[in-house]
Amino acid sequence: MICLASADSPLAEAARTTWDVLVIGAGPAGSLAATLLARDGRQVLLVDSHAFLREKACGGCLNALAVEILRHCGLGHVLEQSDAVPLRSFRLVCGRHQASWPLTGSVAVHRGRYNEALAQSAMREGAVFLHSTRAVVLPQEDRAFALRDEGAAPVRRVRLQRENFQETVTARLVLSADGLSHSSLKRLPEFASQIAAGSQIGLGGAMTDETAEWSAGRLRMAVGGSGYAGLVRTASGSLSLGAAIDPGALTGNVQPAHILEQILNECGLPVPPGLAGMDLRGTPLLTRRAGRCAGHRLLVLGDAAGYAEPFTGEGIAWALHSALLAAPVAAEACSGWRTELETDWARILRRKVIRNQWTCRLLSRLMRSPALAGLSLELCRRLPVVPRSIMSQIGRRPPRLPPLHPHNPLL
Ligand SMILES: Cc1cc2nc3c(=O)[nH]c(=O)nc-3n(C[C@H](O)[C@H](O)[C@H](O)COP(=O)(O)OP(=O)(O)OC[C@H]3O[C@@H](n4cnc5c(N)ncnc54)[C@H](O)[C@@H]3O)c2cc1C
Repeated sequence: MICLASADSPLAEAARTTWDVLVIGAGPAGSLAATLLARDGRQVLLVDSHAFLREKACGGCLNALAVEILRHCGLGHVLEQSDAVPLRSFRLVCGRHQASWPLTGSVAVHRGRYNEALAQSAMREGAVFLHSTRAVVLPQEDRAFALRDEGAAPVRRVRLQRENFQETVTARLVLSADGLSHSSLKRLPEFASQIAAGSQIGLGGAMTDETAEWSAGRLRMAVGGSGYAGLVRTASGSLSLGAAIDPGALTGNVQPAHILEQILNECGLPVPPGLAGMDLRGTPLLTRRAGRCAGHRLLVLGDAAGYAEPFTGEGIAWALHSALLAAPVAAEACSGWRTELETDWARILRRKVIRNQWTCRLLSRLMRSPALAGLSLELCRRLPVVPRSIMSQIGRRPPRLPPLHPHNPLL
């Protein structure tokens, strides 16, 4: 049974304030946006449906852009708090074909600690954080509410649920940074994600491994018939694994760990002894794009706006970059909403983030066919200029990061 929260509960307290910004999702996108807006003096409520510290299906790699954005925002300490170790090389193996490239400026982190450190930064700047709190953005059809502000509601309403209690909270702006699942917008069908044909599911986790086979600083990725898997050693010594596999391979009683073992075997890579017993987390179908990325007093960012499979730490970089870009738009929206902000945000996201995802989209298509992936690796071996330019495209930094002061318009 769901009841209204008692008067002194955190939910009831949250419902007594009209927040400047309610940020849904304390992943990289949501926590960075909350940090920047709270730092600018906005009243920010950050909520996440999970308890923290929370492990996540993720390889834990951050590319040079992700590292640079954190430092640009004065959050370099997040790297130390999440046990970052430098990554020096990326090796891609497909059957008997393989190639490797140097990596500069990339690191591997403990993903649970990384998320926790970012959420703590938001709290240090003054944001209020409610974990274990699920949010659902309510439709705008409540006319009584809308009429108070010349036809457009001055606030957006969001239903928050924690355990068996719920409350409706209001904010001048809602940032939906709730990742792939996009669940906070389930009452707004126009935002539903379009999933790409042939999309794979994600698998990830960390395992203890004391063998010497997987040395630190090297990201290795194996491409097999059922998908691909990347492994990297983190500072704590454990092995972090991120994989994308064909959901069709998981029919019957087939265990996910068995598919991953098969992929490593196909590429002649050592199978870590801990793989069979590791706690693997799965994701919904991966490659997708939200039907819309903005609405009345609502902006969508990070994976929630669209997902392309990352290879060397691009996913977190795109999430952080979208938060950095959203901060000035959000600051303007808090001071006074205008409908054009919806198209402005869609344009910024398309130009500065989604456009940069094409290389990863292309690579993930190639990886779905080991034959094509093998041929491409052979081509890379013969024409090294091709992979060099692809790698520089993947890790490409934007010409300049936007200024931090949220009032500097990017529009
Ligand atoms: C298997 C796998 C491996 C990966 N490996 C890497 C890698 O090595 N490097 C890399 O850069 N990227 C990697 N990625 C991608 C990366 O994890 C994402 O791109 C990144 O986390 C996106 O950040 P985000 O803030 O947009 O979303 P998320 O990190 O997904 O955060 C969203 C948050 O919203 C919360 N939430 C969801 N719904 C609600 C709701 N209704 N109410 C409240 N809270 C809600 C969730 O609990 C979550 O904490 C990997 C992805 C997968 C699937």
